[in-house]
Amino acid sequence: MKRILITGGAGFLGSHLCDRLLQEGNDIICLDNFFTGDKRNIAHLMGLPHFELIRHDIINPIYLEVDEIYNLACPASPVHYQFNPIKTIKTNVMGVINVLGIAKRTKAKVLQASTSEVYGDPEVHPQKESYWGKVNPIGIRSCYDEGKRAAECLMMDYRRQNSVNTKIVRIFNTYGPRMAINDGRVVSNFIIQALQNKKITIYGDGSHTRSFCYVDDMITGLVSMMNSADDFYGPVNIGNPGEFTIMQLAQLIIKLTKSNSEIDFQPLPADDPVQRKPDITLAGEQLGWTPQIELEKGLLNTIEYFRDVLKAS
Ligand code: NAD
Ligand code: UDP
Repeated sequence: MKRILITGGAGFLGSHLCDRLLQEGNDIICLDNFFTGDKRNIAHLMGLPHFELIRHDIINPIYLEVDEIYNLACPASPVHYQFNPIKTIKTNVMGVINVLGIAKRTKAKVLQASTSEVYGDPEVHPQKESYWGKVNPIGIRSCYDEGKRAAECLMMDYRRQNSVNTKIVRIFNTYGPRMAINDGRVVSNFIIQALQNKKITIYGDGSHTRSFCYVDDMITGLVSMMNSADDFYGPVNIGNPGEFTIMQLAQLIIKLTKSNSEIDFQPLPADDPVQRKPDITLAGEQLGWTPQIELEKGLLNTIEYFRDVLKAS
């Protein structure tokens, strides 16, 4: 049995990872400061003999004995990571140094949840891992984008200098049940607005694109990367290459929820990337991973989840 630390384990992706790794027979330590995480995401795990919850902020050192670490601690939604941008970059630098410190001391393997945001507003389409990106270093998204780039740098320097067994995954937009209701990301915003027949808030003219990956596919990708050969350390893109405009997403969600919502065009936030689509050739070759869940199917599951959440609230 492996002892696995999941930082950010009470968040959207982290809680699904706790589920998957417990099912696979591991001992799980879930660490979270509950900034964007929620105890309800892991309530069903509390009391299980192989599940342990620690309330801790990863910018402070912590001493744990573990075999593997998935480092997911960091707010992912632009609304949340811009709420306290200095804290966001601290989490990505001081937090990652603390995580790498645990990995160095215990010889644990460590996987960093990086992001497609390291490509910024990309000039290359679709984005391959070899592309270095076009990031505004001084804009409102830089606390996250540059934070995650610094985190990748730290992972590589600890690998080169201290022989830490590191892995980097660049996660593209992922959605599904347990996104926070106040998350602010496009899929949850649109579903909640549509279910309440409120106006759907499109930032800009709706022509921006994103590629949306369902959470179950993402979790399989993260676990496959952790279990891959030690000489494959990434970065590797994990995401669904199906590309949609934000307008197409809004129309699909209106159709699937049978909503009467109208579209409300609002100003586009600064530095919002115009297009984003992963090239997942490397993940296919090295991990045998491809996404299995089509957008429509994943959205239907997510709509069902938010219907229940809204009913209960
Ligand atoms: P989330 O906000 O639901 O989860 C993040 C979790 O980290 C939350 O539980 C939060 O409370 C916790 N956290 C934040 N700062 C912390 C700190 N200093 N110490 C301890 N815990 C802290 O977001 P998510 O979508 O589950 O994202 C998880 C990870 O995946 C993040 O690192 C994010 O950057 C990355 N990622 C996600 C996406 C996506 O589309 N979901 C895309 C790219 C990258
Ligand atoms: N967006 C939108 N309406 C919303 C929320 C987001 O039009 O209510 C747009 C946003 O401007 C961006 C895209 O949807 O172009 C994806 O935004 P999200 O915050 O989900 O993630 P990002 O990929 O920008 O980090």
